[in-house]
Amino acid sequence: MEKVLDAGHPDFFIEINPDQFELRSRDAVCPFLAEDFSCTIHELRPPACRAWPVHASCEGEGREYLLMDCPIVDRLSDEELGEMMAQAGSIPEENIVNSFKRSSLSKEDIELIEKRFRMFKSLVLK
Ligand code: SF4
Repeated sequence: MEKVLDAGHPDFFIEINPDQFELRSRDAVCPFLAEDFSCTIHELRPPACRAWPVHASCEGEGREYLLMDCPIVDRLSDEELGEMMAQAGSIPEENIVNSFKRSSLSKEDIELIEKRFRMFKSLVLK
């Protein structure tokens, strides 16, 4: 996050406390998404974005890795998939578990994000 702040994007974060910041989303959409659907911080994007289409989940017992229902999955090599899983694995557990519950997002935005998450194909890679 410091790299993103250093790159001149302070307005896109809300400070929850000195150690915790939250993205300032609009309609539950990432503020770094451009109108042409490109990522405006591609080189600096966080691990969760680098891991896509692998998603880490801690809702069950231990950590699971889910593979999203995304057309790019069929074009990924085992090595690329392994790198994405490593990115997903680098996300601290507490960032996965409670990120929505402690956020300042509206109830409607959280429901919208969770609805998008439910579209995921729950293929556990282990
Ligand atoms: S890749 Fe990540 S940071 Fe970039 S636009 Fe998408 S969600 Fe936002």
